[in-house]
Amino acid sequence: MIFCVEDEQNIRELLVYTLGATGFDAKGLEDGKSLFKALAKEKPELILLDIMLPGEDGYSILARLKSDPDTRNIPVILVTARESEFDKVKGLDGGADDYITKPFGMMEFVSRVKAVLRRCARQTEEREITCGDLRISVNRHEVRAGKQKPELTRKEFELLLYLAENKGMVMSRNQILEHVWGYDFDGETRTVDVHVRSLRQKLGEAGEMLETVRGVGYRLKEN
Ligand code: CA
Repeated sequence: MIFCVEDEQNIRELLVYTLGATGFDAKGLEDGKSLFKALAKEKPELILLDIMLPGEDGYSILARLKSDPDTRNIPVILVTARESEFDKVKGLDGGADDYITKPFGMMEFVSRVKAVLRRCARQTEEREITCGDLRISVNRHEVRAGKQKPELTRKEFELLLYLAENKGMVMSRNQILEHVWGYDFDGETRTVDVHVRSLRQKLGEAGEMLETVRGVGYRLKEN
């Protein structure tokens, strides 16, 4: 089931229709209020969330979804009316998995939906990765650093996981952006640096394994 939260009836019906024609079950919802009502009954695989909504806006709804353990792991694609209105960093740091700008082609829309679902399916496999004192439980989104259990944001976790999956290899900022954020971030590679910095702090001593390779990117290296 995919929930499509969109106040414009034409677009909402088009999204639900397109997803239905592609083989997904989809339900259209007109605002945050009806979304939370529907969530109380059913947890969807994915939520498409319009930003400009009457009442509570998409950013605020996203924050609520991500702060509730029951809904935290449901992937969200933000839908925005105009690129210029959209604060990418706000949306993606808020935990959105992708965003799409109106008007969009239905082929592109469906392929974005499939890409996010694929990425999320990979993350639910039961898997643990270790590196030195670090233990990463992939499916539970949990990290242990020695005896500590740091609280990571979704993106910090995914960034750490990506470096751990490629342990010992230098990953460029663009590779990291593309993998963790799912597409090219138009030169806003600073986002990676900010996340690495906060990861290092949260991981304490284990954070020293997160190496900066000047002019290239980052590497997770066992001490
Ligand atoms: Ca709208």
